[in-house]
Amino acid sequence: MTAKEIRQSFKQFFESKQHAIVPSAPMVIKDDPTLMFTNAGMNQWKDIILGTRDPEPRRRADTQKCLRVSGKHNDLEEVGHDTYHHTMFEMLGNWSFGDYFKEGAIDMAWEYLVDVLKLDPANLYVTVFEGDPEEGLARDDEAAQFWLKHVPADHIINGNKHDNFWEMGDTGPCGPCSEIHLDSRTDEERAATGVAGRDLVNRDHPQVIEIWNIVFMQFNRKADGSLEPLAMNVIDTGMGFERLVRALQGKHSNYDTDVFTPLLKKEEEITGKSYGTDEPTDVAMRVCADHLRAVAFSIADGQLPSNAKAGYVIRRILRRAVRYAYTFLGQREAFLYKLLPTLIDEMGDAFPELPAQQQLISRVMQEEEEAFLRTLDKGIALLDKAMDALKAAGKTELDGTEAFRLFDTYGFPLDLTELICRENGLTVDEEQFQKEMQKQKERARNAAQVENGDWISVSSAGEQQFVGYDFTEYECRIIRYRKVTQKKQSFYELVLDNTPFYGEMGGQVGDQGVLVSEEETVEIIDTRRENGQSVHIVKQLPKNIESPFMACVDTDKRNASAANHTATHLLDYALRTVLGEHVEQKGSFVSPSTLRFDFSHFQKVTDEELRQVERIVNDLIRQDIPLDEHREVPMDEAKELGAIALFGEKYGDKVRVVRFGPSCELCGGIHANSTGRIGFFKIVSESSVAAGIRRIEAKTGMECEELIYQLEDMLKGIRMCFNNAKDLQGVIEKYISEHDTMKKQIEAFQAQAVEQTCKNLVSKARTIGGVQVVSAVMPMAPDVAKDLAFKIRAAVAGPLVCALGTTYQEKPLLTVMLSDDMVNDHGLNAGQMVREAAKLIKGGGGGQPHFAQAGGKDTDGLSVAIDKVIELCQL
Ligand code: ATP
Ligand code: MG
Repeated sequence: MTAKEIRQSFKQFFESKQHAIVPSAPMVIKDDPTLMFTNAGMNQWKDIILGTRDPEPRRRADTQKCLRVSGKHNDLEEVGHDTYHHTMFEMLGNWSFGDYFKEGAIDMAWEYLVDVLKLDPANLYVTVFEGDPEEGLARDDEAAQFWLKHVPADHIINGNKHDNFWEMGDTGPCGPCSEIHLDSRTDEERAATGVAGRDLVNRDHPQVIEIWNIVFMQFNRKADGSLEPLAMNVIDTGMGFERLVRALQGKHSNYDTDVFTPLLKKEEEITGKSYGTDEPTDVAMRVCADHLRAVAFSIADGQLPSNAKAGYVIRRILRRAVRYAYTFLGQREAFLYKLLPTLIDEMGDAFPELPAQQQLISRVMQEEEEAFLRTLDKGIALLDKAMDALKAAGKTELDGTEAFRLFDTYGFPLDLTELICRENGLTVDEEQFQKEMQKQKERARNAAQVENGDWISVSSAGEQQFVGYDFTEYECRIIRYRKVTQKKQSFYELVLDNTPFYGEMGGQVGDQGVLVSEEETVEIIDTRRENGQSVHIVKQLPKNIESPFMACVDTDKRNASAANHTATHLLDYALRTVLGEHVEQKGSFVSPSTLRFDFSHFQKVTDEELRQVERIVNDLIRQDIPLDEHREVPMDEAKELGAIALFGEKYGDKVRVVRFGPSCELCGGIHANSTGRIGFFKIVSESSVAAGIRRIEAKTGMECEELIYQLEDMLKGIRMCFNNAKDLQGVIEKYISEHDTMKKQIEAFQAQAVEQTCKNLVSKARTIGGVQVVSAVMPMAPDVAKDLAFKIRAAVAGPLVCALGTTYQEKPLLTVMLSDDMVNDHGLNAGQMVREAAKLIKGGGGGQPHFAQAGGKDTDGLSVAIDKVIELCQL
């Protein structure tokens, strides 16, 4: 079976078991502060598992794009060196939310692998949780019992808490799990070593690997570490697609399956090297094939490489690939982006976000690669210097701090530093490097540390209802709260039963406002969104936490944000109209005071185009088009309404459509009731954020008023400088042209004057010992003095010493000019002489042997300084 067929068969199988087949969530997570990338299939069901979202349909299956390069799951350093861990991979999964549990999950997994796919059960092993006395947990006999229906007892292996007890995080849902492992060794290998497959399970043997993990979520871990039963049992399974393909295609490496071979072939073609020659080449080729996927999918999901957070993770992955290609595949130019067409040929069908954004992905990758290659060159130059210094000092070991500086500031990796040092017969103090690395990690950890307390229930009023689309004030009660401490500051998070407060999402900032009861008013400083709910941030808990409150949103801020959000939609529409349909939203930020919109477009937007965009938006504003909103509609219906769905956005089963005339988008944000409320729209800047991505910042309503006042005041100020001229531009142009003419005249006069002075001085030259000596003290600008000195030199034939003392704006300047023979035959040096003589004007300076200048502080010393120069000539 081909990879494509295998992906299809998984979906078909679970469909036949009454599972709803759902789309993969984006790999880049946008609205969860605790997770940057999807690292398991269950991420997108977190709120169902936590009980804050409707679990229907209770059986689901999908193939999920995952990335394991940061946080709890980080396989980055393995990737390329082994043949079964990837950065980005597909996880096949099936779920049961309070439907079937251990028996159903085990039966289905077995049926699929053995009956449908025909894997040989003799090569399959399963693990069960052995129990943990400290936690008061017994062995998972239940799971073992169900496995015994399918496998002999010696294929069931006990596993410890590390391998067989799955936890979502420090707190939250968790439970025992059973993994299915595959022994894919050849018969010869098995015979040769005589080691049974069961003894290699979970021992990092490259041919005995885990393929499927079936998690039985049945507990909730509290902040104090204790466990309580979960309200609803959950089955969560994850099977590595690339590993399954390898098993079915009978290969010994994921890279030998048709998921990767086309990419490796393309690499061979470009580099002229062959896969399978030697380990370093193979590792590098695997790294490039793997990382290409991770980077391309991230960009398609809207995450561009950058300097912070998720963007930085992507940048690091790309750089890792570049440096392997640089060091081991001899690639000195951008390389990865050249593999992109091959990837799209292979995966474009299953993941339409790739072909749809090919041009953007390609440009971003190429530019990123080129930028890093320049950094590498810079790093190599710095390293060369450091190595020279080492050699000069007779040392052979590069300081670890220096290696770390190269790594930290220039992105220059340790292994590359080591490689280059080795080539030069030097070593690197790795221990010191690691110490520095550790220190930096600790600094980062301390800065980011957040301590979450347990949620404390106040009332059991059911789950939160968001009423903010219709109300800005609403009666409510607090359902639960918790204390959060970050950077030594504490605040509280409140969940209300009914809330009009919008939690930050989709680029729109969270609402602020107050909770009011009969006896007190509590300020809500921000609202965030967590697991689909608005979480209200307060500095202090209300004194009477159980009383009824009125939740009141700050409507000035809310209305301003809403207007900006609506304006963003109109801007999006106008940009598509003016620039073309390739324009895709790549990010947005909406606050009460401003709006920012990032979008794909490959050149600067011209002033003309910006005007056109503004005119379209303002025209829609004047039409005062009312908000046409459709809540809770199925995706198909939304598309029929004409809504644009974005790649990389997570959409639920039901979506909300927001339409203002020709603009129609899927959006959960708060909008103006009609476009007229925006008042006025004005773009304030257009710039580039990355290759192929432009950014527009704009203002609306009152902020525009302020903007116009500022511009008006500035203009008034300028006009006043020009006697309130009516034709301001004409007057300024006239001033400029007069200024230019005068400047030219002055320069001509100056040249004449210098010419004259030169003649005068030369005619008064003294002759001492056959040398003509020209000297004078006079007021003159420094550059004119220099000009004069060169003119004198040109006017005098034969040996010359010229010493000029000039003053300009009460500062003295000493200028010395010598003819060539004075330098060559008499061994004089103007630079040295001027330095010596400048002491007499309390200054210093220098220059070349035949010409030098020195400034100072004491104009009275100029004549003696000139005498000194002549004296130093010893004529
Ligand atoms: P391993 O011990 O091999 O790293 P894991 O315990 O981290 O696996 P799970 O978190 O249980 O794996 O993920 C479920 C499945 O996803 C695994 O059984 C495996 O098939 C697959 N998988 C996990 N990590 C990777 C990876 N980095 N690349 C490819 N597939 C993976
Ligand atoms: Mg792992």
